[in-house]
Amino acid sequence: MSERGDASSAPTLTAPASGSAADTIALLRSLIREACVNDGSVASGQEIRSVRVLQRFLAEAVATGRVETHVLESAPGRASLVARLRGTAPDAPSLGLLGHLDVVPVDPDGWTRNPFGGDLIDGEIWGRGAVDMLYLTAAFACVLRDAALAPEPPRGDLVLLAVADEEGGGEYGIHWLVRQHPEAVRVTEALSESGGMRMGRHVAIEVAEKGSAGRRLIIHGKPGHASIPYGAKSASYRVGEVLQRLGEVMPAAQLGPLWNAFVGARIQDPALAERLRDPVRLDAALPHLGGIAGYAHAVSRITMSPTVLRAGMTHNVIPAMGTIDLDIRTLPGTTDAEVDRLLRAVLGPLADDIEIEHLRGWAATASPSDTPLFAAIERAVEAVADAPVVPIMAAGGSDARVLRELGIPAYGFGLLGPEWSYERYREGVHGNDERIDVESVTLSLEALQRIVADRLR
Ligand SMILES: [Zn+2]
Repeated sequence: MSERGDASSAPTLTAPASGSAADTIALLRSLIREACVNDGSVASGQEIRSVRVLQRFLAEAVATGRVETHVLESAPGRASLVARLRGTAPDAPSLGLLGHLDVVPVDPDGWTRNPFGGDLIDGEIWGRGAVDMLYLTAAFACVLRDAALAPEPPRGDLVLLAVADEEGGGEYGIHWLVRQHPEAVRVTEALSESGGMRMGRHVAIEVAEKGSAGRRLIIHGKPGHASIPYGAKSASYRVGEVLQRLGEVMPAAQLGPLWNAFVGARIQDPALAERLRDPVRLDAALPHLGGIAGYAHAVSRITMSPTVLRAGMTHNVIPAMGTIDLDIRTLPGTTDAEVDRLLRAVLGPLADDIEIEHLRGWAATASPSDTPLFAAIERAVEAVADAPVVPIMAAGGSDARVLRELGIPAYGFGLLGPEWSYERYREGVHGNDERIDVESVTLSLEALQRIVADRLR
């Protein structure tokens, strides 16, 4: 069954797209309707449904004999699709297009439309995953299909990695694929999500992601019966002291080239830009940044956020021990030892009798922005949107880091319409009434087609 032409026959379409853009939009709507909701449990997601949709979409491309596909299932229903369009030159790059198929859950009460309807209304496609990241996954598939149907095969491989479980951390998706099927996912460079927002007149492309180095603080007290508290030292009080300290003492800003690039692209006022480039005056300037202040705060330092607190088992026993879990987000290059040192410095005199336990995490990753792929992105964005590119660091993590860890340059791509500020993008991702406009899908597709031609022709 072909997906082609579906969008142009929809009665609600007001901003018509044609050709590959119409096909991408139809595919996006189909993927939204599959509702591959990942709640973090193994049984959720069931990405096999969207894999089937992609297989139908790519049937014509596969029939050319140039595209090899693998459906790889890490657990029942947790399928990823790898489609490799073979290039002719062994020394040419292999470009990976890494898109996930799963989406985060919704609170239907917060939505004005069916979150899994894939409605196309007034030039916008509605539904969970429209922005994160099914519009790109659909565009990736469309670009691969078009390249396979072109008269000449590409010089290098073009590889669609449509994966499960990004929203659950990738254990049933990219991590499993890299471990179990390294030959299937082998690429030399890659594009994924988290790019394309506007920063000033620039288009942001993600080149780095912060890491996670969670810690559990174990805090001891002196227990007793709660009916006679005299002489006891409740661990609950000590947890409170430590929390207060964590609220007052913050790790200092650490500014690098990506920070300077962000300030240069986004901040028009030269006096404000100067303050932001000074680690001492930076924090006092943050309130002037409006909706981007949180992002600016996060990417300019290692952050430490207390999340889970535990102390006490029973109402009438003064607790001997309490714990504080800290979500700590690191910068590229931060070592585990540095995190512990910094944490002890933040805790100051309280650190002495606190044990620090390491929780699971991952290192921050960064790809250089002087690669041929990055240059191809710059040329494509310039040609399609007449805008320069600014490399940015994301505060959160995505599947792209798994490729970066293997030494593969990977960039968070996208080319959204001019009114898509970083703030709007953040609101759209995982929020209520998630939707994307036809213009952004079309711009992204056009830029992708240019990048593929640039790298592989
Ligand atoms: Zn995503």
